[in-house]
Amino acid sequence: MINIPKGTKDVLPWQSYKWQYIEGTARDVARLYGMREIRTPVFEHTELFSRGVGENTDVVGKEMYTFEDKGGRSMTLKPEGTAGAARLFIENGLSSTPMPVKTYYITPAFRYERPQSGRLREFHQFGIEMFGASAAEADAEIISAASLFLERLGIKDVRLEINSIGCKSCRAEYNRALKEYFKPRLGEMCPTCRVRYETNPLRMLDCKEEECKKISAGAPEITDYLCPECRGHFERLKSLLDGQGVKYTVNPRIVRGLDYYSRTVFEFVSDAIGAQGTVCGGGRYDGLVSQLGGAETPAIGFAAGIERLMLLMDNTQTPYPEEEKPLIYLAGMDGPTREAAFGIVSALRREGVSAECDLMERSIKAQLKYADKSGAAFSAVIGGDELLSGEVNLKNMSDGAVRTVKINELGAYLKKEKKSW
Ligand code: ATP
Ligand code: MG
Repeated sequence: MINIPKGTKDVLPWQSYKWQYIEGTARDVARLYGMREIRTPVFEHTELFSRGVGENTDVVGKEMYTFEDKGGRSMTLKPEGTAGAARLFIENGLSSTPMPVKTYYITPAFRYERPQSGRLREFHQFGIEMFGASAAEADAEIISAASLFLERLGIKDVRLEINSIGCKSCRAEYNRALKEYFKPRLGEMCPTCRVRYETNPLRMLDCKEEECKKISAGAPEITDYLCPECRGHFERLKSLLDGQGVKYTVNPRIVRGLDYYSRTVFEFVSDAIGAQGTVCGGGRYDGLVSQLGGAETPAIGFAAGIERLMLLMDNTQTPYPEEEKPLIYLAGMDGPTREAAFGIVSALRREGVSAECDLMERSIKAQLKYADKSGAAFSAVIGGDELLSGEVNLKNMSDGAVRTVKINELGAYLKKEKKSW
C-alpha cells in the first residue's frame, strides 16, 4: 500500500461540495469586482520565485519544491500565485491593455513546511492580483473584495489587520532604526534573524521564534517613519475603508512574508484555528513587475488559504449549503422493468434532471433502501402496471406523500418541484 505524501490531503466524494462552494463563492465575488481568471503553470523557472518572492524569505530560502528537469533546468512547484501572475502580465503584454488589469486565480501551492494544523505541503489559494493602479482606492477595493468573500462564506470569527510598510525611502530610515534597536540583543536572536539583520531587518518582525518575537515586541513602529506620501496613502485607505463600513485595526507588526511589498499590507486573522491564524494575506507590491523585467507597474493583491478557511468554518460551525442530491431514484421490479427505468432515467438526465437507477442488480427492497441512503428527493417504482398505464406513483422521500405523475411528464414535474424549494 502506497500512502499519500506527508502534508497533502485527498478530497473525498462527500467533501468536494464544500470545495465547490468555497470556489464558487470566490468566483462570484471575483466577478462582482470585474476580476477575470488567469491560470499559470504549476511549475515555473526557479529564478521567477527567487527573484519574485525574494531570496531571503522563508518561502524561497527553506520551503521550495525545486527539481532539475530532464533538460537540466531548475524548476520549482509554485509556492504562491503572485510571481506567476506578474510573469503572465509581463510576458503577454497585458500592460498595453486597459488599466487596471484585474485578475484572480484558484491554484494549488507547494511549500516544504513541517505539516501541522493549518500548514500543509500542498495547499490551495484563492488570490486576486490587480495591476496598474496606484491609488488608495485600489487598495480599498482589494481589501473589500477579500472582506466580501469572507462575509459571503458566513465567516464571522475573523478580524482585519492593516499596516503600511512604506516605500523604499521611508523604509531605509526605518531599517536604520530597527538595526539600532536590535543590535544590542542580536546575540539572543535566531540565526535567520541575524542574517535578516544584514539583508532586510524589516523581516525580523515576521520571525515566528518565541525569543525573537519577545525581543521585537518593543521595536520601533514603521507607522512612525512613513514619508508624507506614504502616510497620505495610508490615511486615505483608512478613510475609504471607514466609508465602506469595513472594520479593521492597525497592526504595525504586520510585514508579510514576501520581499517586494510596499505601502499597504493586510491580514485577515482568526483566533479559532490555533497558531496558523492567518486565513488571508495581501498587500501592495509596486516593485515586483519591474523586478521581474517589466515596466514600473503598481500592483496589489491578496491570497486566501482555502484549507485554513475550511478549518475555520468547521471550528466555528459555519454552515455550508447542503450537498445536492439526486432528484429521483427510479427502481425496477425485475429485469425488463429495470431496463425501462434505465431508459427513463437517461431521458430525465437529458432534460437536466439528476436521476438514478439500479446498476447493481439489486432486489426491489434493496433498491429502495439505497434510494433512501442516496438522499434522493423522490422515488418511484416501475413495474408492469406502470409501463402499461404510463404513470408512476411518485413518492416524496421527505414526507412520504405520494402522487401519480405521467412518466413523460416526470421531468417537467420534478423541475417545477425543485424550483419551488
Ligand atoms: P504563514 O505566516 O501562516 O506561514 P505566509 O505569510 O507564509 O503564512 P502567504 O504566503 O501570505 O502565507 O500565503 C497566503 C495564505 O495562504 C496564508 O494566509 C494561508 O492562509 C495560506 N497558507 C500559506 N502557507 C500555507 C500552508 N503551508 N498550508 C496551508 N495554507 C497556507
Ligand atoms: Mg509561511
